[in-house]
Order: sequence, then C-alpha cells, then structure tokens
Amino acid sequence: MLMVMSKVIIIGAGGVGNVTAHKCAQVPEVFSEIVLASRTLEKCDAIAADVLAKQGIQLRTQQIDADDVAATTALLKAEEPALLINVALPYQDLPLMDACLAAGVDYLDTANYEPPNEAKFEYKWQWAYHERFRDAGLTALLGSGFDPGVTNVFCAYALKHHFDAIETIDILDANTGDHGYPFATNFNPEINIREITQNGRYWEAGEWKEVAPMSVHKVYDFPVVGPQDAYLLYHEELESLSQNIPGLKRIRFWMTFSEKYLTHLRVLENVGMTAIEAIDFKGTKIAPLEFLKAVLPDPASLGPRTRGKTCIGCDIVGIKDGQAKRIFIYNSCDHEACYREVSSQAISYTTGVPAMIGAQMILRGLWKTPGVWNMETRDPDPFMAELKLRGLAWEILELPVNQ
Ligand code: NDP
Repeated sequence: MLMVMSKVIIIGAGGVGNVTAHKCAQVPEVFSEIVLASRTLEKCDAIAADVLAKQGIQLRTQQIDADDVAATTALLKAEEPALLINVALPYQDLPLMDACLAAGVDYLDTANYEPPNEAKFEYKWQWAYHERFRDAGLTALLGSGFDPGVTNVFCAYALKHHFDAIETIDILDANTGDHGYPFATNFNPEINIREITQNGRYWEAGEWKEVAPMSVHKVYDFPVVGPQDAYLLYHEELESLSQNIPGLKRIRFWMTFSEKYLTHLRVLENVGMTAIEAIDFKGTKIAPLEFLKAVLPDPASLGPRTRGKTCIGCDIVGIKDGQAKRIFIYNSCDHEACYREVSSQAISYTTGVPAMIGAQMILRGLWKTPGVWNMETRDPDPFMAELKLRGLAWEILELPVNQ
C-alpha cells in the first residue's frame, strides 16, 4: 500500500461520526492526525475519550457550527487538513462544500444535500459544484456511506467483473436488529422519517415512476437473515446509478420494515407528528418532526441494546458472454460485534466504515480526481479490497435468472 500521512477533519459527532473516528484511528498509517469537530463539543470529547480507550489514538476536538461558512473556513485554514469528512446532516453539505472551496480542502460526505424545509433528495445542488471543484484542483466524493456508497461500488464492481451489460438492479436493505423499544429509528429520525414518508419512486425505461409511500412490497429471501418483507422506496443512489450504469433498463430500492415499526409510523403520520412544516405551539414555532426526534430514543443510545444482523446488497440481472446472468452481491453485519469494536450498532457502522475507506481512496491518491463524483464513477477494485480488510466483508451469490 502506498504510504501517505494525512490530517483529516471529521464534522459531526453523531452515530456515524463516532464510527468514522474509530475507524480512521485504526489506520494511523493513512490518518496521521484526526480532528473531530461538531456543534456540541462535549459529544466530540466523549467520542475522543472512547477512541483513546479502544484504539489508543488521541483525537483533537473542536466546536463548530457547520452552517456558518466563514467560521468553518477559518477552522479549515487554521487546521489545514487534507480532507474534510462530512458526517453531520445533509443540510450542512452545501455550506461545507463552500468552506472546502474557500480553504482548498478535499470533501467527502455520506448523504446528498437536502433543503431543510423540503424533503427532497436530489444531487442537482451538489453536482452544480463540479466545475468549481475541478477548477480548484479539489476532489469531492459524494455518498460514501453504505447506501448510497457501498451499493454504488457493488454495481460498478459487478459491471467491471461480472457482466458485459447490466439490465436491472434491485438494491435491498434488510435490518433484523431488535433494540427492545416499541419504536426507534436506527439513524437520525428526522432524516429517516423524511425518507420513508415521501412517495416511492423508481426508474424504468428512461423515466421515473412514482408510487404512494410504502404501497409496493415483496418478500425477498436474503442470505443470512432469511425472508423479509421489503418495501419500495426512493433512495438517492437511484439518481446517479440510473445515469452512470450504461444501458440500464430499471433500478429500484427496497428496505425491510417490521409490521410493528410500520404501525407506529402510520399512527405518527396520521396525527401529524411527521410533518416538517413548523406549527405555532404556545407562541413558539416548532416542526412536529423535530419535536418527535427530541422524544424518540437517540440512535447513538441503541448500540448496547441492539441484537441481530443487517444484510444489504444489490440483486443484479444482465448479460455475460451472451447468456442471462443474475447475482446478489452483499454484506451482512452483526449489531453486537459492531458494538464491541466501536461502541455503535451496525447502521452507523456500515456508514462510518465506507466513509473512512472513501477518505483513504482520496488520500492515497487512488480516487483523487478534481471535480464532484459519485462512487460508481471510480475504480471499484481498491475500495472493494478495503471493505474486506476493514470490517465489511462481502460475498457474491449466483442466482437463477427467472426467480
Ligand atoms: P446524528 O444525528 O446521530 O449526528 C449528526 C451530527 O451532526 C450530530 O453530532 C450533530 O450535532 C451534528 N450537527 C448537526 N448540525 C450541525 C451543524 N450545523 N454544525 C455542526 N454539527 C452539526 O446522525 P447520524 O450520525 O446518524 O448521520 C450522519 C449522516 O450520515 C447523515 O447525513 C445521514 O443522512 C448519513 N447517513 C448515511 C447513510 C448511508 O448509508 N449513506 C446511512 C446512515 C446515515 P449535535 O450533536 O449538536 O446535534
């Protein structure tokens, strides 16, 4: 491996920030210095203490409001990191990209920009930065989590090594983890609920098709976790993959939910608790969904309670050597094993590990190309090799085509 010594700054000290910090600390030959900065300094300090205890590496911490471009630019100019890893919230993507441009720092995130008062998952705002990053000689890598992230790389790897042409992709995300609460979300509840209460959408024959929220579902027989009820959702990697996988005829995304979870969600929706428009409450403007987030369990607190496994992968059908072929390429992660390693459940783990690997790809020069890039446009091989080394081993199953 090419040896590089680079300083990184991680922005965001939530579930994913915690895992990213632990995993970067496990690779000191690349991440020679790690700064963790977030809105609440105490959360950074708590993570730093755990990283020191578990990994034997000392992080430095800083307080920052990432919505404040001038303050973040000043922090970047003072710290001079080679790369900023954004694992705050999607609302911070554009301010952080602006700060990176102003300070001359490479950029990476795990979720596409969303305007705070509109549940809209689109890359257009971030793709509009391509020329500015390219002209500044800076790299921005978008969506380096699991889905988006690893799922995009799985598709690129399948195209490179298993197919002459890909026709259909179904991305399937199963989580059989049980945390013992009647209702909780495994990552930021606001982002999670915004994602699943919007219309489902998929891409077929060159156009987007829309369905009512959670109205299309099927039982999919996953490896490791077995048959699960999976619901068709819109997910952001569909937008870039539908453009970047040549000849693709259809791409859909499915996520599993238990009946208990869906019943709670239906009730919350019916009573208006998932609305993002602020209402007036005793003279205070308050968005019901933000209030709901405040009363639900903090996703970071689920780690020690969660048992079970995830299984996330891509079911891909295409042509190889003139024959129809179908594969399922996937990773399965165990919640308790993740907790033992980095004090986190598997959802944050499966996001933080790829964030660290994407950062390595840029810092080692393997994916350092000026401009703004989605994961599937990069060579998948070094990323796939690192997944096996860093805790997200993957497998490929050959499946019957007509099933
Ligand atoms: P959390 O809510 O647990 O953490 C978010 C962190 O960002 C908190 O520490 C929060 O600070 C901090 N933050 C929020 N606003 C600001 C701000 N203005 N300035 C500085 N810090 C701020 O979220 P997660 O860790 O679960 O998720 C992090 C990101 O990862 C999200 O963008 C999410 O969408 C993405 N994600 C991606 C996945 C993928 O597979 N691609 C899967 C799961 C998540 P405070 O502590 O003060 O609130």
